[in-house]
Amino acid sequence: MLSYRHAFHAGNHADVLKHFVLMQVLAYTNQKDKPYWYIDTHAGAGMYQLNTGYAAQNAEFASGIAPLWYENALNQPLNDFVALIQSFNPDGKLTYYPGSPCIAQNLVRATDKIRLFELHPNDCKILLENFKGKDRTVKIEKQDGFAGIKAILPPPSRRAVVLIDPPYEEKQDYQRVVTCIKESLERFATGTYLIWYPQLQRPEPEHMIQHLHKLNLKSWLHVSLSIEAPAADGFGMFGSGMFVINPPWTLAKVLEESLPQLVELLGKDNQAQFNLDYEIN
Ligand code: SAM
Repeated sequence: MLSYRHAFHAGNHADVLKHFVLMQVLAYTNQKDKPYWYIDTHAGAGMYQLNTGYAAQNAEFASGIAPLWYENALNQPLNDFVALIQSFNPDGKLTYYPGSPCIAQNLVRATDKIRLFELHPNDCKILLENFKGKDRTVKIEKQDGFAGIKAILPPPSRRAVVLIDPPYEEKQDYQRVVTCIKESLERFATGTYLIWYPQLQRPEPEHMIQHLHKLNLKSWLHVSLSIEAPAADGFGMFGSGMFVINPPWTLAKVLEESLPQLVELLGKDNQAQFNLDYEIN
């Protein structure tokens, strides 16, 4: 089943959390000269136009990136994040929001490589168009990312940042993530893995986190951003989280400093909050 289209959600609160964390991880990884691979198992279309088509239908960006875009008193890391989004909108209007592949392409160095997997035929086509003629270091495959990653780990340079960002429309995705991480760590224990998940009133997200912990991870960070109280009818996403394996040691401090402002700007009611937990060795 491939009904999910990320364009409907482009630039929403969950994208902001995910891409802010991704930016911090890539910026840290860039500090060491040795090349690395950026691997995106569920890449999406790469770039989204906000004022037309799917993204404009529910305008989720209006309560996601927009409040940051129009805020004049952001802390430095959030200001850097907005500057990154501004670089895709040179005329100063918030028209385009980059997906994880374009954010990564903007941040990696000429010596690094990007490997993208996207299964949806239309989104893969758009992704290919977005990267057309741009960069020979990017390889895009219309393939199941959970299967595709097996063939490319470990990367030749033994350094990689991996984003695992499935739609979770099928509840098997939660188990697929755990299996993917288990097998990936067996092949390549020192990679940095970022897993995004939705906060929902159902047990699967929490079970997934519990199963990840059972893998006896030495170094991990778990951050979540709830933007509102869970709905009375039990439906809908009330926030999202990122679980990072082998995170940069600097990540917790940046999040401790930035998440209160994200709660303030993106929160919809008095139950908006963040949670941060980590063990970094
Ligand atoms: N990572 C993107 C970003 O941050 O901009 C968003 C990705 S979106 C949440 C999930 C994407 O995974 C969708 O575009 C969907 O078509 C794609 N997808 C679903 N199942 C997949 C699979 N097994 N392998 C690769 N892509 C898949």
